[in-house]
Amino acid sequence: MTVRTRFAPSPTGYLHVGGARTALFCYLYARRHGGQFVLRIEDTDLERSTAESVNAILEGMTWLGLDYDEGPFYQTQRFDRYNAIIDELLAKGLAYRCDCPKERLEKLRIDQMARKQKPRYDGCCRLKQVDPNQPHVIRFRNPADGVVIVDDLIRGRVPFANEELDDLIIRRTDGAPTYNLSVVVDDADMQITHVIRGDDHLTNTPRQINILRALGHEPPRYAHVPMILGDDGARLSKRHGAVSVIAYRDQGYLPEALLNYLVRLGWSHGDQEIFSIEEMIALFDIGDVNKSASAFNTDKLDWLNQQYLQHAEPSRIARLLSPHMGRLDIDPSTGPDLADVVKAQAARAKTLTELAEISAFCYRDFDEFDEASAKKHLRLVAREPLEKLRAAFDLMAFEDWTPEQLKRVVERVAEELETNMGKVAQPLRVAIVGRAASPGIDETLMLVGKEATLRRIDKALAYIAVRGGEAS
Ligand code: GLU
Repeated sequence: MTVRTRFAPSPTGYLHVGGARTALFCYLYARRHGGQFVLRIEDTDLERSTAESVNAILEGMTWLGLDYDEGPFYQTQRFDRYNAIIDELLAKGLAYRCDCPKERLEKLRIDQMARKQKPRYDGCCRLKQVDPNQPHVIRFRNPADGVVIVDDLIRGRVPFANEELDDLIIRRTDGAPTYNLSVVVDDADMQITHVIRGDDHLTNTPRQINILRALGHEPPRYAHVPMILGDDGARLSKRHGAVSVIAYRDQGYLPEALLNYLVRLGWSHGDQEIFSIEEMIALFDIGDVNKSASAFNTDKLDWLNQQYLQHAEPSRIARLLSPHMGRLDIDPSTGPDLADVVKAQAARAKTLTELAEISAFCYRDFDEFDEASAKKHLRLVAREPLEKLRAAFDLMAFEDWTPEQLKRVVERVAEELETNMGKVAQPLRVAIVGRAASPGIDETLMLVGKEATLRRIDKALAYIAVRGGEAS
């Protein structure tokens, strides 16, 4: 048997992290078993489905690298097929027309609730001959008794009594097939062997199994993935920050970090935290996914992103960083090679956005010194070292502006003043970067270049002249 999984989002919003995790699990399971992964867009809800959502979903999948082998298939293009199946069910007596008026159904519901019963259709039209030319819906004739066992790969055996499942509507009055019918037809036609989806669909599964059996199909295996919670224990929603995959991209997360984070939400392999996509494919098994919900933890995502930023190829990170520099109105071609900046800075940032912010000094002068850093390091005692450094840098030829030479100059000034490196390098760092944190001073000077270094030392000296005497 060739494993075939599908991701079947409804395009009523962006691709959110819960959907992305489901897609990842479907993808990994198919890849692990040398099978196929199908993308199906469930756009039958014409009022809520939009082309922008379809695009956002496709964009999210592409960004994450979750490539599918077939699709995207669109359910709106398969209405004829669903209707043919509904007609077949009608002809075989496995479905029937129902013209119960809204008022009757509403009264039924209220009476059942008053009796503390679960609201369900009472089968009133099962034996009626409803005029096909009058408005009506079509209902599936659900088996009246017996039990449907959902043998779930994550949750184990979950029994559902047929008497709890009513005759669900498979075609609306307006002629549109409903979700449960179209999913069943698609899963059968697309030869899906494993349905991996959110556990909010668990109660649909016995209904879908009954329809599949009525159509003469063996149901696929099911795996219902528990939901993702926010850090406060409530279901993850916009309230908890970004939930859209594309928002994570825009905030400067790497796709491999988000995938790594998502695979660990509910799945583990010993204490291992970092998984390449190849390792995920080799190790992932849907049966190992946790039954209980997992909570989204942004700190952990940040940690993973930092790990990936640090270890990825600097030229690739530079490419991804470029638009984030652009958002700060910085054109990286006007300064040092962005890949060199990445090499020097990657370990210091959690996201590309942060990396861009802390690297802006390589391309343009900062406006203000960081107050605390300036108070601590730009004091009267720093004037002499800065003046000496300025004079020494000024004498350096362009080709000598290398980390080695620069380091030697700073060391020499410290020796001349009979002080330690820190007393010289820290004021210099604040002068060049605006704050007390940066890569090694030699690399920092190298990235900033001679002209800006001299200019910024002058600015620091001017600051000292005015405020260097203030008590810190
Ligand atoms: N279209 C459904 C949703 O987005 C998923 C249906 C399924 O996976 O069976 O929730």
